[in-house]
Amino acid sequence: MNKGVATILVADELIKYIRSLDDRITIFLSNESKIRIYEHIFALIALGYFANKLSNLSVDQVKKTVWRWSKKLFPSYHLKIANEIGAEVDKVIKDSFPPIQGLEEQRSLPQDGLSNKEVMRRLKLLHDSDVDIRKGQLFAYVYPTNEKHEKLVVDAQNMFIHLNALNPTAFPSLRRMEVEVVQMAINMLNGDSLCRGTMTSGGTESILMAMKAYRDYALENRGISKPEVVLPISAHPAFEKAAKYFGIKLRYIELVTDDNSHRVNIEKMKRAINRNTILLVASAPQYPHGILDPVEELAKIAKSYSLPLHVDACIGGFFLPFLESAGYKLPCLFDFRVDGVTSISADIHKYGYATKGSSVILFKSDDYRKYQFMAYTGWPGGIFVSPSVLGTRAGGNIAAAWTSIVSLGHKGFQSNVANIMKTSKAIQEGIKSIKGIQVIGNPVMSIIAFCASPSSGADPLLNIHAVADVMQSKYGWKLERQHKPSCIHMTLTPSHVGIESTFIGHLQDAVQVVLGDPSLANKGSAAMYNGISNIPLTQIADDFLIDFMAKTYTL
Ligand SMILES: *Cc1c(COP(=O)(O)O)cnc(C)c1O
Repeated sequence: MNKGVATILVADELIKYIRSLDDRITIFLSNESKIRIYEHIFALIALGYFANKLSNLSVDQVKKTVWRWSKKLFPSYHLKIANEIGAEVDKVIKDSFPPIQGLEEQRSLPQDGLSNKEVMRRLKLLHDSDVDIRKGQLFAYVYPTNEKHEKLVVDAQNMFIHLNALNPTAFPSLRRMEVEVVQMAINMLNGDSLCRGTMTSGGTESILMAMKAYRDYALENRGISKPEVVLPISAHPAFEKAAKYFGIKLRYIELVTDDNSHRVNIEKMKRAINRNTILLVASAPQYPHGILDPVEELAKIAKSYSLPLHVDACIGGFFLPFLESAGYKLPCLFDFRVDGVTSISADIHKYGYATKGSSVILFKSDDYRKYQFMAYTGWPGGIFVSPSVLGTRAGGNIAAAWTSIVSLGHKGFQSNVANIMKTSKAIQEGIKSIKGIQVIGNPVMSIIAFCASPSSGADPLLNIHAVADVMQSKYGWKLERQHKPSCIHMTLTPSHVGIESTFIGHLQDAVQVVLGDPSLANKGSAAMYNGISNIPLTQIADDFLIDFMAKTYTL
């Protein structure tokens, strides 16, 4: 970007901050801090100008640099912000992790090991402190099926639980199950005989591996040392993680929201491609709203620029293949049948109903997959070669994944899909029937997001996070809060089949409660989400989250 333009943009951004500071930051910072921000913001503009003059940084990097400098220059002001953030984080931590009655904190190793009885007593207390995942009140994280299936999978896992897939020749059983899992996934996703893959510990690792493979492929074959990836903003944060870990620049493309489609803007995606681009990404479907990216159109673009296309089917990979035979339409193809799709990630620990810790990353051929691998001969401990991020790899997970998919078979998957789709459709219809809220876009499967309906005429607009708060405090539903735009997310699993009419009844009531009491928007998670997602300086929000992490993992 031209330096002059970047400078103006930085200044413009900062002026926008100033305008939005007053009403938005109140939830988070005291008046005194606000005034300090005004004082310093002009200094920051000047700093931003010089930072930009002196270097060729992007707007984002300039903002970060400015923030870092301002921490050095105005330590007392930052200390004050840090203290206020800290106090807010402490409140969240206190609410999230209440003490468990009868369970003292274990801070050092017990002198004599605890008795089995005592261990079990404590485990039971811990377990009982969690939500019951079979009651269908949770809409993320877990994919319960039925006791019979779960027992079989756990038995398989236990049988191989101590084995290690680190060295494939050590336990040939694990290698055999892994290559079968990968081959079954390839065939399910219509790959040809050249397709290859690996099992990983989850969607994140699968995506890390894809990003690493394409980065190294582009470096070796095209000499690209400043790699960039073009992807919809709705793509999973695992891509951001990979980008941060592996030094890849991401070009996020926004969604089209004015028609409520929330589909990615294809024209913009095309325009973001440049000579450093190494990869395009599509999701099948994307997690936030369950919308299927236009894989076929993106594959055409990818091909026309001779670029690879990764399809992130982490959540849909073991669901979408059964949609049509269960009687539902796919808006477009998303798998290896699409010419131009070069890799797919698909999680077995989601709709593959395996235990946590299994996914596959599949490539069109070894031309790409081999760049995922890592070889090293310098170690005195022996020659070393590894397919993925992990060293030691849990044998039990491989056995559990293998068992889950062979025991379900095509029919088992299809019947789960059919059952869940019935519930998904009924919930979507129910949401549409409630005045004041609307489904976001056109969800392709079992993932639904809904938001306040701008056409409802409510003023102020219904606060959807307050609706989630009422659903939780009054009825026990733990819905997922999302932002940009504010909405509620639901991932439906077999545990939700049958909840539809109760759920919709409760939702109708919760919407009425919030419409009747707009002050609910200033309480609970509604207030917190409003606070965090509206902080104009993203660095303050990042600091909040990092502080939250640090305190979460401290006894
Ligand atoms: C869950 C998910 C991931 C990440 O998978 P993990 O197993 O949580 O690491 C990536 N992409 C999508 C679309 C997902 O839903």
